[in-house]
Amino acid sequence: MVVSCIDSRVPPEMVFDQGIGDLFVVRTAAPTVDDLVAGSVEYGPVEDATPLIVVLGHQRCGAVTAAVESIGHGHRLPSHLDVIVESIRPAYEQARAKGGDLIDQTVRAQTLQTVATLTADPALSPRIDTGELGVVGAYYSLDSGQVSVLSSSFKL
Ligand SMILES: [Zn+2]
Repeated sequence: MVVSCIDSRVPPEMVFDQGIGDLFVVRTAAPTVDDLVAGSVEYGPVEDATPLIVVLGHQRCGAVTAAVESIGHGHRLPSHLDVIVESIRPAYEQARAKGGDLIDQTVRAQTLQTVATLTADPALSPRIDTGELGVVGAYYSLDSGQVSVLSSSFKL
């Protein structure tokens, strides 16, 4: 199960060299998670014994960039775009406190926030505790094509 961004440059099947029938994929901006998205993520582990969830953020994320600019300039984006901005706001606040490249740090913080949300999910949490399900936070570099691990529920 890959939970990744809507960005056309980051298709999970191509990033992970997988084909039809290999992956469940849920794509939302950044990625962000709400109840509907969580339900789709639960489907794999609960209904199909999927053993791994990868939450994949990526370099130069447009959704994160738009959220950072919206929050930074204090102007709201229209309609449901503002829902995305508000969903990214906690990661933005973390990134601001941390310093460094604000957009890149927000991407990484948002990925870890999504991991935390899914890890606390009532349908997923017991499976993670037993090791039947793993959750990995990862970052895709557009420049290098490499995926690096940001966090892992596996005991390494
Ligand atoms: Zn993106």
